[in-house]
Amino acid sequence: MASIEVRSLTKHFDGTNAVDNVDLGARDAEFLVLLGPSGSGKTTLLRLIAGLETPTRGDILVDGRVVTALPPRLRNMAMVFQSYALYPHLNVFENIAFPLRARGIARGQVNGKVDWAAQLFGIAHLLKRKPRQLSGGERQRVALARAVVREPIAFLLDEPLSNLDAKLRTSARDELQRFQRRLATTTIYVTHDQIEALGLGDRIAILDHGKIHQLGTPQQVYEQPADLFVATFIGSPPMNLLEADGVVTGFRPEHFLPRGAYAADDAVRPFVLRVTRIENLGSDRLVYGALEAPLPQVSVVSRIPCTVTIPIAAGDACPFAVRERDLHRFDLKSGANLGAVS
Ligand code: ATP
Repeated sequence: MASIEVRSLTKHFDGTNAVDNVDLGARDAEFLVLLGPSGSGKTTLLRLIAGLETPTRGDILVDGRVVTALPPRLRNMAMVFQSYALYPHLNVFENIAFPLRARGIARGQVNGKVDWAAQLFGIAHLLKRKPRQLSGGERQRVALARAVVREPIAFLLDEPLSNLDAKLRTSARDELQRFQRRLATTTIYVTHDQIEALGLGDRIAILDHGKIHQLGTPQQVYEQPADLFVATFIGSPPMNLLEADGVVTGFRPEHFLPRGAYAADDAVRPFVLRVTRIENLGSDRLVYGALEAPLPQVSVVSRIPCTVTIPIAAGDACPFAVRERDLHRFDLKSGANLGAVS
């Protein structure tokens, strides 16, 4: 267990600022997610923390101690990659035992530790199998068991669930969170999947072009996005945006509802929506269309919960509204959140 901090961390690859002057800290036992689009610098940041890349500038600290010059094995962090990187010719037992043997740990102790990790991840019955005889989910658990067996100070996980199908991913997410809580090991987790990030992270750092746009709890990054990038990257469908006089007004689809869904005396901003298409998702209706007022022809989408049964049909021009308090304002040029609408 440990706190991990990076200060002014920068990594240039010829011509690219993969990580650009990043300050970030993961608290002891925290589950910190690095979220961003492809190429935003997540993996490079994780590899810098692990010691697999040398920074161009800046420092990495563990419990306040600078470790920037330490090689990976002396940092004692366990990295799990998307590919799991299991040894195909070794069985599950030997895969999990590998990091222990590499450190010269006595045979008796190796058996005990492998058994402990295998029990923890529910794979004790698979110890004799080779990786090719395992499902994707089982392979992932072997990779995690191999990571925990050496009792690292931190887990560094790079998209470890992306090879699993959607259903397995949900249960693997749940398992991963439970293991992390039980072991209370500081975890830094890279993903480009916002659902994974919102569901797993104690806090989420949102990156683009090597820079952190926001660090906050899932609720903070969703409800108070620091800028337009975060506002549009998080949320599906994304936030609706209207631009006028150098200011971008944003509102989430679930806050953009038929006027009749609000009380008559609610403080709301009125809109008229010309509906083009409706998707019924069971729990919600997604209503697509273009505004007729106040800003004509801007494409928007509304997410209406099934509890709101107001009839809407394609072709209708319907009164819609957003509560004033659910409107966001951003500076068009800098993208910065301008705070509450006054
Ligand atoms: P993904 O989600 O696609 O894995 P990422 O957010 O993890 O992306 P990185 O892999 O960290 O992004 O890459 C950040 C930037 O640095 C990209 O522009 C990438 O092309 C560049 N980059 C990464 N590794 C190298 C390298 N070894 N040499 C040159 N450029 C690199």
